[in-house]
Amino acid sequence: MSNRSRSRRHEDKGFTCINCGLQVPGQSWGTRHRNHCPACLWSRHVDDQPGDRASPCKAPMEPVGIEVRPDGEWAIIHRCTGCGALKANRIAGDDAERALLGLALRPLARPAFPLE
Ligand SMILES: [Zn+2]
Ligand SMILES: [Zn+2]
Repeated sequence: MSNRSRSRRHEDKGFTCINCGLQVPGQSWGTRHRNHCPACLWSRHVDDQPGDRASPCKAPMEPVGIEVRPDGEWAIIHRCTGCGALKANRIAGDDAERALLGLALRPLARPAFPLE
């Protein structure tokens, strides 16, 4: 929380969901860097570090699971369909609960990690 003074609230223009086409605003409750669609939870590989928009990949990132952290906070695990990178992103306050629950309850028929 050391870079709190670096306000970029009006620079984040948001994005259009690469999966369902929803226009997603850049700011939302519970997250500083909205990086996934609140409706279908898909993201896009644009960050090397959270919020830096420095990745050249730009491929869609599929939500593959939910991680519940020790403090009770939920995070979405995204897997890049382009390069295979796995990233955990905090959920936002307006993410669709049904989509989150569907992800949390997803059977292990599609494991987030290769079982090798
Ligand atoms: Zn979407
Ligand atoms: Zn990627």
